[in-house]
Amino acid sequence: MSNAPLTNAQEREKELERLRRELAEAEAELAEVLQELEDKPEFGLGVGSPRLVEWEMNLARRDQLRERIALLKEAIARLEQGQYGICESCGNPIEPERLELFPETTLCAACARAQSKRRR
Ligand SMILES: [Zn+2]
Repeated sequence: MSNAPLTNAQEREKELERLRRELAEAEAELAEVLQELEDKPEFGLGVGSPRLVEWEMNLARRDQLRERIALLKEAIARLEQGQYGICESCGNPIEPERLELFPETTLCAACARAQSKRRR
């Protein structure tokens, strides 16, 4: 038995597992939302009817989930290629706390800030 710290490969494996779990959850939720969307309300109900509002919320939820799934898949692909956690812009490691909050991020905090400023 050795007390060696976790190797990067092991850390990566754990992170991959976590992302795959999140992906599976998002996909399950998307399937549910799609099922509910099948049941289209009558548009004769008029704007603001609870059924219609619910349906529209599901539509928005579907788009969010699709986007999340795409990002998670991208993160998993990067991780599999060993590029996960590396800032796409400056090549420095991304802060672990940041990855914890936004597993799909591709930028370190400084670059993300710089980019959101540029967008304005
Ligand atoms: Zn950076």
